[in-house]
Amino acid sequence: MKPLTNRAKQVVNKEMTFSEKIYLPAVLGGLKTTMSHFFKKQATVRYPEEVRPFSDVFRGKHVLKRDENGAERCTACGLCAVACPAEAITMVAAEREKGEEKLYREEKYAETYEINMLRCIFCGMCEEACPKEAIFLTTEITPANYDRSNFIYGKDKLVEDVNHRTDITTRQAHKNLAK
Ligand code: SF4
Ligand code: SF4
Repeated sequence: MKPLTNRAKQVVNKEMTFSEKIYLPAVLGGLKTTMSHFFKKQATVRYPEEVRPFSDVFRGKHVLKRDENGAERCTACGLCAVACPAEAITMVAAEREKGEEKLYREEKYAETYEINMLRCIFCGMCEEACPKEAIFLTTEITPANYDRSNFIYGKDKLVEDVNHRTDITTRQAHKNLAK
């Protein structure tokens, strides 16, 4: 039968030579390749002992900020959830009660606020959409975990500690410079 292309090759069942039979030249060739890589600059780092330097505008774990008096800034408007391309943000809004002014800055606040870190692509759209400067991305990494449910970050992990505020100024300054 005539072949469709001229790339067809006839298989030759050739007897192996002595050097091919003992595999030694092939083993030495492989060792030579391995040895040559010993003297090349390593492309990998020994994480977690070694950590690569991150970009100044690296986008990591989110923080929900408080205002200067310690009240939560988020008003549960939902704009961050609408802007999120990964549909990673969910929240339940609640009305602020009398006497809760110190806890929540606005009359409406997020009773629950969750980000699914397995869905999040760290694009920063939530940060851009927020009209209250309530949500920011930090330079902190989201740690690995064996349980998927531990990647649903609620307010306990997102709202900043009132006594230990999360500094976002350096990343924001670099972000504005990069614009
Ligand atoms: S960083 Fe992007 S993907 Fe992650 S929650 Fe914000 S908008 Fe959604
Ligand atoms: S974080 Fe900002 S955009 Fe998202 S619900 Fe709160 S106030 Fe609205």
